[in-house]
Amino acid sequence: MAADAVVTSSDPWQVALHQFGVAADLLALKRGIREFLSHPQRELTVYFPVELEDGSVRVFTGYRIHHNTVLGPSKGGIRYHPDVTLNEIRALAMLMTWKCAVVGLPYGGAKGGVICNPKELSQQELEHLTRRYTTELSPFIGPESDIPAPDMGTTPQVMAWIMDTYSMHRGYSIPAVVTGKPISIGGSAGRIEATGRGVMIVAREATRHLGMPFQGARIAIQGFGNVGSVAAILLRDQGCRIVAVSDSRGGIHNDKGLDPADLVRHKELTGSLAGYRGGDAISNEELLEVPCEILVPSALEGQITKQNAARIKARILVEGANGPTTPDADAILRDRKVFVVPDILANAGGVTVSYFEWVQDLQSFFWSEEEINERLERIMVRSFRDVLAVSQERKVEMRTAALLRGVSRVAEALLTRGIYP
Ligand code: NAD
Repeated sequence: MAADAVVTSSDPWQVALHQFGVAADLLALKRGIREFLSHPQRELTVYFPVELEDGSVRVFTGYRIHHNTVLGPSKGGIRYHPDVTLNEIRALAMLMTWKCAVVGLPYGGAKGGVICNPKELSQQELEHLTRRYTTELSPFIGPESDIPAPDMGTTPQVMAWIMDTYSMHRGYSIPAVVTGKPISIGGSAGRIEATGRGVMIVAREATRHLGMPFQGARIAIQGFGNVGSVAAILLRDQGCRIVAVSDSRGGIHNDKGLDPADLVRHKELTGSLAGYRGGDAISNEELLEVPCEILVPSALEGQITKQNAARIKARILVEGANGPTTPDADAILRDRKVFVVPDILANAGGVTVSYFEWVQDLQSFFWSEEEINERLERIMVRSFRDVLAVSQERKVEMRTAALLRGVSRVAEALLTRGIYP
């Protein structure tokens, strides 16, 4: 596809290819390199049976895709969601390659997913599904080759089952095979908060860059899971005002400000944000359009489209989610001077602390939470400033600048290593 063609497709793989194409054009990548990086390196599809509690057997479909391993072992989350598709996992794997390169981690990119609705499965069914999926993946993952982590619908407990299953097959404990584990089995301090913390840090840096006050900034957050809820708490701790949040069942708006800790309690008690009394109920579409300074999509991809981009009132968009903005929406946001902190920079805090977790597991020596947070702060601030510098130098928006940085690092490593054989 020509990179300058307007991409109207909401297919995440077409979107990812388009974004890569823009960077490849600007970098004048050689044809062969461009073609290689436009393809996933390896793809595995598995169909596996799980016995449900009523005695019936259901066959699930799962994927694991390694987009690129030039910079090191591949790294990326595992998603459990009913709408998982092969093209979505391909796109997310490619984004992981650029993301790791943007923040300077020695990793390639990967992603995995299972088409399932974890909310409809019992704990035991979820465990059996995870253990069988891990078994099917087991030749494909490993501490030196491919290291999964949590994503939508997967939790530290799911990571613990992956680690245990992989270790049982080998006959000894291998904590470094997966990150985002509970601390009791080799997880890292600060990992649960890492993505939300990174979102908070880049939101702060964006306000500094634009000369806007961070304290008191109004924030709207779509998605109230790991990323969204932690970002809400940390942004509120910094003095921002959380005016709207939502989950898959809809959202809550209160211009005077919401208490994220109270919202977390409500969600834990009732399973969703619905029915929360501290504000007015709004839809997910309305959430994206509420008056605010900073909008943080933290749920699914393809949420900000050409249909709603012109109605977004935020001055800053911080992409907690992967791929929440379509390319045609990007063009509208650019014209409207919305400052976009792209996913491969904004949510890189998660993979950064996953990297710290992997390093700690490999050396069996653990760092304090302060050390983790300090190192994360340094990497996020440095990466934000580096991307901003590219954006100013090349006169491109932040998404293209981040891609230029990520893609050029991977391409350079590829050229240095050479093409085997
Ligand atoms: P999660 O499963 O913990 O939470 C997802 C949230 O999104 C839930 O509150 C869910 O109700 C909500 N949601 C689902 N469908 C929705 C819809 N249609 N509209 C509004 N809300 C909806 O997942 P997470 O780990 O917080 O991941 C969220 C996003 O952040 C994903 O795009 C993921 O790829 C990205 N991300 C996550 C991490 C991480 O460390 N967890 C790291 C980088 C990027």
